[in-house]
Amino acid sequence: MLASDSTIGILGGGQLARMLAMAAARLGYRTIVLDPDAACPAAQVANDCIVAAYDDAAALAALFARADVVTYEFENVPVEPVRAAARADAPLYPPAEALEVAQDRVVEKAFLNGIGVETALWRAVDRVEEIGHALVDLDGDCILKTRRFGYDGKGQATIRREGPFEGAFESLGSVPSILEKKVPFAFECSVVAARGTDGTVRCFDPAENMHSLGILRRSCVPGRIDADTRRQVFSVTTTILERLAYVGVVGVEFFVLETGAVIVNEIAPRVHNSGHWTEAACAVSQFEQHVRAVVGAPLGDPRRHSDASMENLIGSEISRVQALLSEPETVLHLYGKAEARPGRKMGHFTRLSRHG
Ligand code: AMP
Repeated sequence: MLASDSTIGILGGGQLARMLAMAAARLGYRTIVLDPDAACPAAQVANDCIVAAYDDAAALAALFARADVVTYEFENVPVEPVRAAARADAPLYPPAEALEVAQDRVVEKAFLNGIGVETALWRAVDRVEEIGHALVDLDGDCILKTRRFGYDGKGQATIRREGPFEGAFESLGSVPSILEKKVPFAFECSVVAARGTDGTVRCFDPAENMHSLGILRRSCVPGRIDADTRRQVFSVTTTILERLAYVGVVGVEFFVLETGAVIVNEIAPRVHNSGHWTEAACAVSQFEQHVRAVVGAPLGDPRRHSDASMENLIGSEISRVQALLSEPETVLHLYGKAEARPGRKMGHFTRLSRHG
């Protein structure tokens, strides 16, 4: 376990890095963030910020030289420059292999299917000519997604079984893509879990998630998740963590079918928006759990003391702050962003209700 005045490097300086830096500080650790924007949310709370592009070799080398361990808050950090900068005395956690799997939807689905985990049926689509054949093959309504750099529903187009599909590939930029068969899910859920350097796995309770316009709106715990679903999603999440020799917190998103079967949608190798409720309803939040994992500390107990409903404050919804601050049993968290642009996550709040 790293001594408590050690330094954690964080790639990316958004709200997730900000909350990681706050959790690190509570345990006595120092943080250095690398982000292209000097005014990023994490810079306000971290000990230092290196302002540089994520593929700037000199800046990455400086980060690894000054840190005792390096982690990241988003999955699109460039793997090769980061791998080249990593040092034996400053490891990258979660490991680069987790980034490689999560950065490319085809690699991700092939990995999952290869370890026996079910996903939506899919076909890789590198050229527009391949879409027609893939549609016939999948035999149903589909979603075309870019293989890389998709987030919050960006880089996606729905294609109906009977077409037309002209223009969909071009609308995503004519880049290598994946065609996924649409899953008729009853609801979506996710598991936020951690694996420590000693291989211990701890799962927070699964959350039922509601999205709108591709952005997470609300996560409810326990939501509609029954004991059987919980068992299945914990088992799949544990398998993924073990097969990736993972260290840190992961978010695994699932579709739950009417039959009760579960299908993985995607893996986020980082703290996850659907785990924000843990800061209010658990003794140890997902942010502290991630810090504990990457510094080699014992993981915290993931049990929750309350039921929870977490909602994001997006864009102009920041105007709800005063009313939310007047609510009892509501925990508010703002990200220090000056400008409330449409679609921008400005903060979140968690309403608690005691159980048991
Ligand atoms: P993603 O960026 O892949 O997480 O997709 C964003 C959202 O689109 C998901 O949370 C689902 O609501 C929906 N979605 C994505 N893929 C599928 C699919 N294969 N079938 C049904 N809905 C999907």
